[in-house]
Amino acid sequence: MAARHDLATDPGLQEELLQARRGTAFFARKLNELTDAELDGGSLLPRWTRRHVVAHVGYNARAVARLVEWAATGVETPMYPSTEVRDHEISFGATLSPIALRNLFDHSAVHLSVEWRDLPDRDWASEVKTIQGRTVPASETVWMRTREVWIHAVDLGNGATFADVPAPVLERLLRDITGAWHARGTDAGLMVRVPGTDLEFGDTGAEDPTIVSGPLPAVVEWASGRGTGGVTASGPGATCGVPAAPKWI
Ligand code: ZN
Repeated sequence: MAARHDLATDPGLQEELLQARRGTAFFARKLNELTDAELDGGSLLPRWTRRHVVAHVGYNARAVARLVEWAATGVETPMYPSTEVRDHEISFGATLSPIALRNLFDHSAVHLSVEWRDLPDRDWASEVKTIQGRTVPASETVWMRTREVWIHAVDLGNGATFADVPAPVLERLLRDITGAWHARGTDAGLMVRVPGTDLEFGDTGAEDPTIVSGPLPAVVEWASGRGTGGVTASGPGATCGVPAAPKWI
């Protein structure tokens, strides 16, 4: 019989699951504040309406659930057959009726939550593969989903901001983003800093770096390519204002 509570007993993992579910609830709240007609409006993402965002977040839950099922059964079930299939699915999803779109979000979120709930301790370390081809333990699916729901709640463009995102999530996002830059070498001469904290990332060894700094939510908003509000820049790359952040995903 299925458990009524999470089978995972690791306190760190339990905390992460809480953060993912909180993010899902937050996305649901912002979605519920939108009328059906408002779903047709633009999101913060180029070329995407809010419909695209909702479809993407719904199909993402299904894709992440496939990884959890993979961990549980040992049967390889990738997130998506290919990035083309994923993109096509989003375009299709964006054409669904408002009620179908809302159901897609709700049902896929519940399904993923149940998959997590029923995954026993021994399977959380099982390795699965992301759409980017990274091999990760099943526990990583929790963070993969967490960052999607929090960021895309902001992308709905109806009032959520990065200041609504919990600080631990923002911090981990900033590590992820600057880590991706570093892996690609696109952070040369660029540093990001949150004054009053020890958060400092990027090309920390540079002699005369361009430094982008501000409160944590503003720095993450900038680093994720979603605007320059609240950050300031100094150094050689800042002669024309705050530079655009290097590409993240
Ligand atoms: Zn996404």
